[in-house]
Amino acid sequence: MSERSDAGAAMRIDLHAHSSCSDGTSTVGTLFDDASRAGLDVLALTDHDTVSGWAELPAAVAASGVAAVPGIEVSSESGTLSVHVLALLPDSSERSELAEEMARARASRADRARRMVELIARDHPITWEDVTGQVAGEQTVIGRPHIADALVARGAIADRSEAFREILSPSGPYYVPYYAPSPAATVAAIRAAGGVSVLAHPGSVTRDSDLPLDLLEEMVAAGLDGIEVDHREHDGAERERLRRFARTHDLLMTGGSDHHGTGKPNALGEELTAASVLAQISERATSGTEILRP
Ligand code: AMP
Ligand code: FE
Ligand code: FE
Ligand code: ZN
Repeated sequence: MSERSDAGAAMRIDLHAHSSCSDGTSTVGTLFDDASRAGLDVLALTDHDTVSGWAELPAAVAASGVAAVPGIEVSSESGTLSVHVLALLPDSSERSELAEEMARARASRADRARRMVELIARDHPITWEDVTGQVAGEQTVIGRPHIADALVARGAIADRSEAFREILSPSGPYYVPYYAPSPAATVAAIRAAGGVSVLAHPGSVTRDSDLPLDLLEEMVAAGLDGIEVDHREHDGAERERLRRFARTHDLLMTGGSDHHGTGKPNALGEELTAASVLAQISERATSGTEILRP
């Protein structure tokens, strides 16, 4: 093979994306068709706290020609910090501790969404039906983005971003937290489910200060496999800081778009993961869940 065709064969791998099974706006099928148009070879489906989209992956892979990494973006929390952990290639069994924790988080998210809507309805035009009208199906994990979309549909606010700034912010009067396990327990549960754990967008955990180092160290001690270094919410200095931490602790470094369909500007393939890193992820996973190839 010539050098040129080697270079041309560089794989385009995006390890972070959402469908309408959580707060993305595209079905799994459309997401993978879009991934093909974006020139991706591999895309991880990482909906918040659910594997309900996995059933659609075989058909989506066959139709799009894009390989799929079955995954989850698992919610965890530490004090007032919301920490997201990607679980790549975990077992999807409903009896694992991971599945039980996610079921608990989903139930708590549902209660919390209703409560937030009650509070917001005191000051803004919104009903619970407005929110369920923004949700794809029974199984959809409801989050603040759906409340944002309902407010936009009502004309109460211009767009999702403004809704997050003006109404849905954790420091605002309408925010209600939901149950989520600790970051270290989440890492351990992902490992017990045979999956590979990657700390998602650490730079956006707190918008104005760095993720506390001792929290990162706790996650590493619990068996954290990697860090999502390349993400649009990290500037160059943040990426360098995370790379140093990853090298020191022998962690994998991934990249992902965190695409949410039309709900956010994040474009499929805008951040990528090296093929050698995906190979290590695949080797480390012990669940039997495998990358689905076309
Ligand atoms: P929740 O998990 O319900 O608290 O909502 C958090 C989700 O909202 C994140 O996973 C993102 O998808 C989305 N999100 C957070 N901040 C913003 C923002 N400023 N603009 C748009 N979407 C956001
Ligand atoms: Fe999201
Ligand atoms: Fe996230
Ligand atoms: Zn995400």
